[in-house]
Amino acid sequence: MELQKITCGGCGASLSLSGEPKFVDCRFCGASLRVVRNESAVFTEVQERVEALGDEVAELRKDADLRALEDRWAATQRELSGYDRRGRLMRPTRGFAVFIMAACLLCGIPGIVSAIITQRNVFAPLGFTFFVLMFGVVRGGGTWRQATRYEEAERAYLEERRALMQLEGE
Ligand SMILES: [Zn+2]
Repeated sequence: MELQKITCGGCGASLSLSGEPKFVDCRFCGASLRVVRNESAVFTEVQERVEALGDEVAELRKDADLRALEDRWAATQRELSGYDRRGRLMRPTRGFAVFIMAACLLCGIPGIVSAIITQRNVFAPLGFTFFVLMFGVVRGGGTWRQATRYEEAERAYLEERRALMQLEGE
């Protein structure tokens, strides 16, 4: 049986054919090739079906990646957000953190003033002030950290999303 030399239309490698197959897989690049014969030559065509299928698979993978990204972001939002009275998500903001700290500072001032004026029983008003200020530091600081984490997570999410969308456009 005579061997026929053909060139892979996918990668240009030289392949040997025995017999007269209509289709052959390139053992170098894996392309599915259609063997075309006319009077003067034998050549190969990379089958479109294979490429189209590859595109579809890539598209599906992108969709899956995008869905997974959206799911992860939704979970992160739930983790980092508070809820308002109607149960809607409320993203943490630095402004709200400052508001908590300022409000606690204001609430703590009367205790100090009272202790200065009366100069008796100072432990109760100062204790109250101390408690309120600590509350402000803990809750306000916590909200501040949440706001920072939220911003970083949102930035990462948007960057990843943009990267996936760019792939989509190719
Ligand atoms: Zn090849």
